[in-house]
Amino acid sequence: LQIMAKSRFEYVKKFEQDDRCLLGCWIVVRIDGRSFHKFTSEHLFAKPNDLSALKLMDVAACSVMEEFRDIIFAYGQSDEYSFIFDRKMSLFNRRSSKILTNLVSLFTSSYTYNWRIHFPNTELKYPPAFDGRVVLYPNTIVLKDYLSWRQADCHINNLYNTAFWEIVKSGKSHVEAAARLKDTFSSGKNEILFSEFGINYNKIEPRYRKGSCLFWIDKMTEKSPEGPDTVGEFITGGACKKPRVCREITVSHEDIISEVFWSNHPQILGQ
Ligand code: ATP
Ligand code: ATP
Ligand code: MG
Ligand code: MG
Ligand code: MG
Ligand code: MG
Repeated sequence: LQIMAKSRFEYVKKFEQDDRCLLGCWIVVRIDGRSFHKFTSEHLFAKPNDLSALKLMDVAACSVMEEFRDIIFAYGQSDEYSFIFDRKMSLFNRRSSKILTNLVSLFTSSYTYNWRIHFPNTELKYPPAFDGRVVLYPNTIVLKDYLSWRQADCHINNLYNTAFWEIVKSGKSHVEAAARLKDTFSSGKNEILFSEFGINYNKIEPRYRKGSCLFWIDKMTEKSPEGPDTVGEFITGGACKKPRVCREITVSHEDIISEVFWSNHPQILGQ
């Protein structure tokens, strides 16, 4: 009788909408911190770039890649991360909402879970949140343009923020600093940094200028005592116990706008 009752209600399933991502397309998920302008000031992030915060973003992204192994590449900057899935991916039957919600939720929980390791002296005042979207790209050219767009955004914001905070640190108000930079081009900001503050922008940490690229490299592991895999200094979970070819995530801060990166790593997009 109870089984009968359940099937009577089951028609409600049919109201769910089909949101499967088109076959053959690159699936890109971009997540972005919600109101991180406020979050970063409430948690006293160093400006313009808090190194611990950027590393925490990378760690959260690594745990997402470790769990969702069809992610072939991820790019992060500021409070955002983009994840690229293998175009042949069939996880969750390519259902957009399943993919998006699982990624956003794991990223957010990993960010929170690893907070105290990266900020041992800063209490998390409230739970951070991230938004997310799924975008499909039908070919590799437009996918690379997508990634170039995000890295160009990183460059423009970082150049502005670097100049802005140098002007502020020299004793000017936020309003004055903004006024000073208004109507300047890249060359003008570079010039202010160089002539007034002795900073050669191109010598600033690549991490800040280029953002973070995560991708897999093959690695032959030694037969090791049981223990978690590590990415650089970070523990990411998943243990490799037998000697075999393991994939490992590598973090780099390279230029991905130029073709050089993609021809140095042809395996990433399978070209
Ligand atoms: P929204 O909810 O619309 O995304 P937002 O306040 O998060 O609003 P963003 O455009 O995403 O706006 O900007 C992110 C903010 O977080 C910027 O102010 C950026 O400078 C700051 N931020 C992000 N990461 C860092 C970091 N590692 N160090 C210092 N500041 C950071
Ligand atoms: P999926 O990722 O597909 O959702 P799942 O393992 O989460 O896989 P569900 O159908 O969501 O599968 O089932 C949730 C599982 O968690 C069930 O096995 C259920 O018994 C268990 N569970 C959930 N809440 C509780 C609880 N409060 N106490 C004990 N078991 C629970
Ligand atoms: Mg946003
Ligand atoms: Mg944001
Ligand atoms: Mg952002
Ligand atoms: Mg479940």
